[in-house]
Amino acid sequence: MELKRVKITCPHCGHPMRVEVDYSNGDQDYYEDCANCCNPVHLNLHIDDLRHKVAVAISGDDEQLY
Ligand SMILES: [Zn+2]
Repeated sequence: MELKRVKITCPHCGHPMRVEVDYSNGDQDYYEDCANCCNPVHLNLHIDDLRHKVAVAISGDDEQLY
């Protein structure tokens, strides 16, 4: 298990949040609740094994109409 801390920004409120990513599990797709606004943040992780880098794509999934 190789944990890495990744800093992301909540797409709903812009609050910075830290998530722990487990490298050894490969690509992942999960939700983390923002501690500030409690909205779910969709994290899409792509692990690059060769360079030990992780690419994190975030999005807020709820479709809000403004
Ligand atoms: Zn938030």
